[in-house]
Amino acid sequence: MTEKTGKVYLVGSGPGSINLMTIRAREVLSIADIILYDQLPGREIIDSLPETTEKIDVGKFGGHHIMKQSETEALMVEKAKEGKNVVRLKGGDPFVFGRGGEEMLTCRTNNIPVEVVPGITSAIAVPATVGIPVTHRGLSSDVTFITGNEDPDKKDSTIDYAWLSKSKGTIVILMGVKNLPVITSSLIKNEMDKDTPVAVIERGLRKDQRETLGTLENISILAKERGVKPPAIIIIGNVVSLYDKERIIS
Ligand code: SAH
Repeated sequence: MTEKTGKVYLVGSGPGSINLMTIRAREVLSIADIILYDQLPGREIIDSLPETTEKIDVGKFGGHHIMKQSETEALMVEKAKEGKNVVRLKGGDPFVFGRGGEEMLTCRTNNIPVEVVPGITSAIAVPATVGIPVTHRGLSSDVTFITGNEDPDKKDSTIDYAWLSKSKGTIVILMGVKNLPVITSSLIKNEMDKDTPVAVIERGLRKDQRETLGTLENISILAKERGVKPPAIIIIGNVVSLYDKERIIS
């Protein structure tokens, strides 16, 4: 008797509130045999996961990796080969800096069927909560999403800061809190206007969401003074001038 292989669902939770999860995400969570999650979706979503379904936190906790990426993928494959429906729940969208692509490839290699359930990415939704559109007619005709994980001064950085600093559009940085000082100084060194407005939004769509507004020149000092911590979205560009402290998404 051959056992049927299960399926892996790479699911985006959206940026942090239950309201902004897709119907498909809810559906697959309800049919999952096992849910592999991390803390990025936030408490509201994690607390809403089906009570009786097996759940494993594969993410970071207090700065420590509970599981390496390779271990998470191995677990995903093992459970699917046991015939289980495995949901890998991720913050935002699984294919935006979410390592969802790697997980899809691992499933492909192991002949495990995969379904991707896109989510609303924090890169767009978190700025929108306070009235910052990532593009806006007359203010910004393009948007670039970058990872702040790469130190711009390192030789192996794949981001071209000389090119980026010429941008008249919007730059959205994910995972950029630690490297904010080197990122801003690199843009200024490459002659981006130091008065360009910048917003840092921590814990978007959570009860304790907080925004810090400044310029390319002073934002890293302000962020340090205010003890800014991840997860945070950093937005650089003239669209930041549309900021309004009134929250318009819940
Ligand atoms: N796949 C995710 C991004 C994963 S990378 C997405 O599409 O949103 C992790 C980074 O996402 C964090 O370091 C932070 O920069 C950003 N992020 C995710 N959720 C966030 C939130 N609710 N508030 C602020 N930043 C968030």
